[in-house]
Amino acid sequence: MTDLDALRDESYTGANRCWPCTVVNLVLLGTFVLLLRVRERTVASLVVGTLGVAVVYLRGYLVPYTPRFAPQLVGASPLPDRLFHGDPDTDGAGSFADDVELDGEQVLEELLEAGVVVADDEMLYVADDVDADWHGRMDQLADRSLDGLAVEVRRTLAHVDDADALVADGREWVVVGAENDLVARPLAIAELAAYEVLDDRLDDQRLRLAAAESFRMFLEDCPACGTELRESSAVSCCGGYTTPRESPRETLVCPSCRQRLYTFPAE
Ligand SMILES: [Zn+2]
Repeated sequence: MTDLDALRDESYTGANRCWPCTVVNLVLLGTFVLLLRVRERTVASLVVGTLGVAVVYLRGYLVPYTPRFAPQLVGASPLPDRLFHGDPDTDGAGSFADDVELDGEQVLEELLEAGVVVADDEMLYVADDVDADWHGRMDQLADRSLDGLAVEVRRTLAHVDDADALVADGREWVVVGAENDLVARPLAIAELAAYEVLDDRLDDQRLRLAAAESFRMFLEDCPACGTELRESSAVSCCGGYTTPRESPRETLVCPSCRQRLYTFPAE
């Protein structure tokens, strides 16, 4: 896998994969392969088909300049945008605070008041002592196996009756609750650690959960693998693809885990 990984272009695959580009490329490739078949170039069609799919898988797209035209092509098609762009709220791969409906700004205000978050020059930071505790706890949780992490989740989060480990498509998840909600491992580590660290600093259980979720915006490195997070956009490949009403949201992504760690609220 290491050789293949070297070929992989992170900007256009994994969490950053652009589905309009991928679909348009696979359709074009399929058409070309069919053309070769019709001309009875069976071996050539097999080789082109296999290599083409591999390139789209590893590099995101095959046809040069795809990011410049695929989004417009798909945008002009009658297919719903959601099919290609997903829901930016859920693509972030879960949270233990999914059922807590607290306004993000209100949460930050409460955190400022509690001294958990501090403002400096219009920037917000986690207070030094909290930050040190949070990172210490994240390091401990990152050393646990996925099963061990699921056990910690079950033990610590009062509202979670059941938690299990799941590995799918090379990615690791904690499955929680009756609805089998999935929380990706890096997010589970970040939120659980924050929740624990906030124990004696916040009384309100719902606020603690919501705060643990918003703490993810302060991450600089991936809690699971230590890779430096990259700032990206919910539609990074195509740059400009947006519906007329909304601009793409900024995101924090771990390129190694292929995981979005935080989606900043729309401006
Ligand atoms: Zn990572």
